[in-house]
Amino acid sequence: MGRYDHSFAYHDRARRSLSRGVSSAMKATQAPVPICASHGVGSHIWDVDGNEYIDFALSFGPMLLGQSSKVVVDALRQQLDAGIGFGAGNRHEAPLSELICDVVPSAEQVVFSNTGTEAVQAALRIARAATGRDRVIKFRGHYHGWLDSVHVAIPGLSGDGAGTGGQDSMAAEQTTVCDWNSVEALRAALAEDVAAVIMEPININGGCFLPEPGYLEEAKRLTHAAGALLIFDEVITGFRVALGGAQELLDLVPDLTVLGKALGSGLPISAVCGTREFLSVVASGSVNHMGNFNGSPLAAAAGVATLNYLRDRKEEIYPRLDASIRQIATAFERARADHGLPVAFNHTVGAGFGFFSDQPVLNHDDRLVSDPAAYGQFAARMLDRGMFIPARGLWYISTEHTEEDLARTVDAIMDVAKDMAVNPDRGAQ
Ligand code: PMP
Repeated sequence: MGRYDHSFAYHDRARRSLSRGVSSAMKATQAPVPICASHGVGSHIWDVDGNEYIDFALSFGPMLLGQSSKVVVDALRQQLDAGIGFGAGNRHEAPLSELICDVVPSAEQVVFSNTGTEAVQAALRIARAATGRDRVIKFRGHYHGWLDSVHVAIPGLSGDGAGTGGQDSMAAEQTTVCDWNSVEALRAALAEDVAAVIMEPININGGCFLPEPGYLEEAKRLTHAAGALLIFDEVITGFRVALGGAQELLDLVPDLTVLGKALGSGLPISAVCGTREFLSVVASGSVNHMGNFNGSPLAAAAGVATLNYLRDRKEEIYPRLDASIRQIATAFERARADHGLPVAFNHTVGAGFGFFSDQPVLNHDDRLVSDPAAYGQFAARMLDRGMFIPARGLWYISTEHTEEDLARTVDAIMDVAKDMAVNPDRGAQ
């Protein structure tokens, strides 16, 4: 019996009817096989072979409260008995938008969508309607979902082209790609008429890169001077790096904010928020905000439970998310120092990004010369030791990770580092 036999068998079966055998490209890259999860509790998940893992993927971010969070499950159960979907408003939408307005500094009003991608589309429409302009500036190595207009110059891609086959080659004609953290580059890009500048305020998808001191302030000043709107895509950072997201942590309020992931604790819900003035284009009906499942009762109920939980415990939660990711960072430093492994690790509160690289990875270009295949090997060997980390480098911490989880993870990192120093080319078992 092999450790992943049932996952291999499931993947073989799935591939026959489900193209690529998984439902997103992100899951397809996992070696030795995309595992099939069976269940999860707190910071741990199990696969169909009965293997137990400490979960640092957190469903690629959403499971900030861990798996099967009692407050979320209770809220869902209650709503399940009351109805799953209505062609009408439901009693969780207003409480959820009130909570968002309470905790997110830029929020005076909210609109709901289902995914981050859709909310980005809504934010761009709002910005275009509010300014009467078309052009959007996005940054190299920032990710805003898979919309044709902004799925260009994506993380890890060299060149500024489309992120995948099949994109409309004309859709990004009104998108200017720009270097992040460069005031001069942004100033030049703003010479044209621009509706919006969209960025991850902490570029987690690119490699967990932080803005240079003063950059966000200058970017906001230049954006406003050019008559454009500043959009923070806080799909990852929202509710994770601080209750109010990166805009709270970095003390810089954008015009519009895109939220998703942690908002629904695994249920599909996303949001755009901003001032009443900018959202008036939705209130007036000039921007027709659509979507069958927007603010659906189950997802909104999960959102209310999640935000109430985080708000009530924020003094304790955010320092712990920070301390926990620092333990992982320290383990990477030790792996480099003690075993000569060429690893780097960038981090912010509750999230980090690991690389195999001879040099520090400080921006999009540095990432392009890192070694994703070696990191993939590392991730596969961590999987063998019961650590579930995405092969692309991201790490997420939940409120449920314990001291013991972290101590075991640090041991596993050191163990894998030693193993890789001795057997650099051994495949995953
Ligand atoms: N923006 C950011 C910053 C993201 O990280 C993601 C998803 N990883 C998206 C947008 C798109 O969200 P979704 O996958 O829910 O469409």
